[in-house]
Amino acid sequence: MNITSQVDQKLALDGGPQAVEHPEPDLFHWPIVTEEDEQAILSVLHAGSMSGTDITEQFEREYAQWHGMKHGLGTCNGTAALLASFWACEVGAGTEIICPSMTYWASAIPALQLGAAVHFADIEPDTLCIDPGDIEHRIGPNTKAIVVVHYAGHPADMDRILPIASKHGLRVIEDVSHAQGTLYKGRMAGTFGDIAPMSLMSGKSFPIGEAGIVITDDSQLYERCVAFGHYERTGLPTEYNPTKQAIQDSELLRFAGAPLGGVKHRMNQWCSAMGRVQLKHYPRRMAEIQSAMNRFWDLLDGVPGIRAHRPPRDSGSTMGGWYASRGLYRADELGDLPCARFAEAVRAEGVDCHPGANAPLHLHPVFHDADIFRQGRPTMVAFGQRDVRQGPGTLPVSESITDIAFGVPWFKHDRPESIERYAAAYRKVAEHADQLM
Ligand SMILES: *Cc1c(COP(=O)(O)O)cnc(C)c1O
Repeated sequence: MNITSQVDQKLALDGGPQAVEHPEPDLFHWPIVTEEDEQAILSVLHAGSMSGTDITEQFEREYAQWHGMKHGLGTCNGTAALLASFWACEVGAGTEIICPSMTYWASAIPALQLGAAVHFADIEPDTLCIDPGDIEHRIGPNTKAIVVVHYAGHPADMDRILPIASKHGLRVIEDVSHAQGTLYKGRMAGTFGDIAPMSLMSGKSFPIGEAGIVITDDSQLYERCVAFGHYERTGLPTEYNPTKQAIQDSELLRFAGAPLGGVKHRMNQWCSAMGRVQLKHYPRRMAEIQSAMNRFWDLLDGVPGIRAHRPPRDSGSTMGGWYASRGLYRADELGDLPCARFAEAVRAEGVDCHPGANAPLHLHPVFHDADIFRQGRPTMVAFGQRDVRQGPGTLPVSESITDIAFGVPWFKHDRPESIERYAAAYRKVAEHADQLM
């Protein structure tokens, strides 16, 4: 299916009618909250059990089960989940991790907090995920882990990444913050690496407030994450002591009652209560998003200059909940029209469209000059690491992100007529590219 050509329509930028005259905010509203969420949160409020762990433990079990994984551990946010996972994987002073430059800062900065350096890898222009061909030459004697981000819901190329990690004895840390429910060749994101930390923050695909979770099949990694930031769950016989048995033989038990990271990662039970409700509905809501987003992109199939950011139909891979959905831009098919100008014309049509995605992290001063520990040296090189700081020109695909990607509507409901209007806006601009030069 395709939409009719918009060639006869004048661009809104040139005074023509807007493709989307009446924005429909409820088409995009997220999270979807019902009385069921309200009741769940109110019951925690009335019980005064915000700081308990009984509901969080139920949520952890259900969330891990959804992935077919052994362990889940709730955290106060995704950043904490990343930090604990890094520590569990022995990322520490003087070590390095490899991480794609195109991601949110929390995929990387927690490494600095542990005294480690971040060696950034470039992304693939079609998946916007870490380029497996740009990993191996970055591995050094102190590299501990590869961080994989399933960017904007798109699964990373795990079949090529995992063998590199196992060849070099590296951990794979899957940051699933964008990709809850994403499938890679039929299997869920978060089940490929050693451990999968992720955000469950209100704006993400799986939105339950200010929260995160770690899932893993590795009991030792799980116990280390508990020991790092969950002081009341490390062995002392308190009412919040579900993991005592699990860690009884562990050397970590010696430190029971004091978190080894000196941080408190417990999840507020308003969030875990909401999480249990959201989890019940997530597969159905995700399916609706997938059908809406695929409809949008099917309508634009064959339009020059723009491509869907999604895996091939028959691959068994999906985009999960299509978090922060992007389109891929091919300026050469539109007479080299800059992506920014394209996006400006789409905005004039009534659609909020901006070029790019995240800003490439490797250029951020925090990875060059920040002296977090006040040692008189940038933390990136303060613990005897190699100097792996990367300046402009080193990661060309990530640095060109505002030329190769742009925002598209993140539909939460599959309403064909509305979606057609939004798709028409993009098509109209692409068909008038020559007038925008
Ligand atoms: C949001 C996000 C995080 C951090 O999660 P918070 O819950 O905001 O702390 C980590 N990684 C990625 C890729 C994210 O998008």
